[in-house]
Amino acid sequence: MTEEYKKLLRQVLCYTESYLENISQTSPFPDQNCIDELKRFHESLPITPSDPMEVMELLNQIGGKGTTAQIGGRYFGFVNGGLLPVSHAAQWLTDTWNQNSALYLMSPIASVLEQICEQWLIELLNLDINTAAGLVTGSSNAIICALTAARNHILRKQGYDVVEHGMRGAPPIRIIVNEQAHSSIWSALSILGIGKQEVIAAPVDGRGSICVEKLPMLNENTLLIIQAGNVTGGAFDPIDQLCDQSNLAKTWVHIDGAFGLWAAASRKYKKLVTGLEKADSYSVDCHKTLNAGYDCGIVLCKNRKALMDAMHATGSYIQYSKNRDGMLYTTEMSRRARSVVLWATLKQLGRSGVENLIDALGEKAEYFANGLEKAGFVIINPVSFNQFICKCNSPELTQKVLGNIQNSGVCWCSGGKWDNEPIIRVSVCSHATTFGDIDKSISAFVSALKSSNIQ
Ligand SMILES: *Cc1c(COP(=O)(O)O)cnc(C)c1O
Repeated sequence: MTEEYKKLLRQVLCYTESYLENISQTSPFPDQNCIDELKRFHESLPITPSDPMEVMELLNQIGGKGTTAQIGGRYFGFVNGGLLPVSHAAQWLTDTWNQNSALYLMSPIASVLEQICEQWLIELLNLDINTAAGLVTGSSNAIICALTAARNHILRKQGYDVVEHGMRGAPPIRIIVNEQAHSSIWSALSILGIGKQEVIAAPVDGRGSICVEKLPMLNENTLLIIQAGNVTGGAFDPIDQLCDQSNLAKTWVHIDGAFGLWAAASRKYKKLVTGLEKADSYSVDCHKTLNAGYDCGIVLCKNRKALMDAMHATGSYIQYSKNRDGMLYTTEMSRRARSVVLWATLKQLGRSGVENLIDALGEKAEYFANGLEKAGFVIINPVSFNQFICKCNSPELTQKVLGNIQNSGVCWCSGGKWDNEPIIRVSVCSHATTFGDIDKSISAFVSALKSSNIQ
């Protein structure tokens, strides 16, 4: 290792320390000056190499200021998780190792830890003992993997091999989806050759949760896609009842549990996902509720063979081993060694650490919502997990207030629509959020409301 290389990494450690030291005073979204400065990146492709130290300096100085303070305590946008110290550190080490986790032969450590993570996830989430896990970029990809396994399995039961013959001549599949499904479900279906017009919407109640009594007919050629956690309203579908009906009809059930599946690891919240072990496949993110950092999604499939058959890749140069070859469970071959980061996170937290993390997010979401309600905001649904939506007395006011919150420099929330009206979404998704952060954020909401009333 050269002195320059060492110096470079030490310099980056300094940058990291200073970023972390300042995070609690940093605006959750960069101000206009910082965004204007990003123009400095616009140049034509350099003709010749430059000093890596200078590259990192530019990145730190200008790039760092163009970040959202997502690892701070007052970023409540979308459902973007925070980053635990152990996960951060494990990412660094993993990056140093630069492992490709496609095959055991490419990285024994990634393979061994992937196997262990699979077992631990089964225990933690109380899944069927044979469940297979594949580590992917995020839920969008996990959903593609799971729905491919489901589609191929349902068609194979009808004597049709879609891998050989394609979708054009395939017998029909009944696809039933929570009418408020996340957009990634629709894109996955379209990638699988299934159009929106072919999908049957399962009607939901006022909170966005499937009404069991209005569930369209199920049969053995049905794929039912439900959710543990509506990305806007936060509601969970009645998993237990939906799975019971599906099991009777031999329907494949997929649960999109990007952030909500983690409820299974908490004694307080697991009632939200009662019966989840009866489903066939799941998609979940470790970068959301678990705070393990990007990118770390998981596809889980009870029928291991169905997932492996669907993802199967061959090539004369591919050398499978008796050990776990991670690529067999995903659409991806070359992959960073996500298992290392996931293992380190679960090893450090243990069962009770995961539970405390989840419970704290939920408790703080409730505290936040109560504070806002007292301050005159309308909380639209009861808070069931880590996120909620709220509004003001008129749609125009809600829009204005959201704009003022986003410009407050104190906290940051994203918007959305509920019942065709604008809303403010609050997702408490970082371990770094303290009650003090929430008090400051509630004050920022109140100031935003006051100044919007004047505007
Ligand atoms: C975030 C999310 C997704 C998509 O996950 P990515 O990791 O962003 O690909 C899907 N479904 C729900 C409910 C989500 O919250």
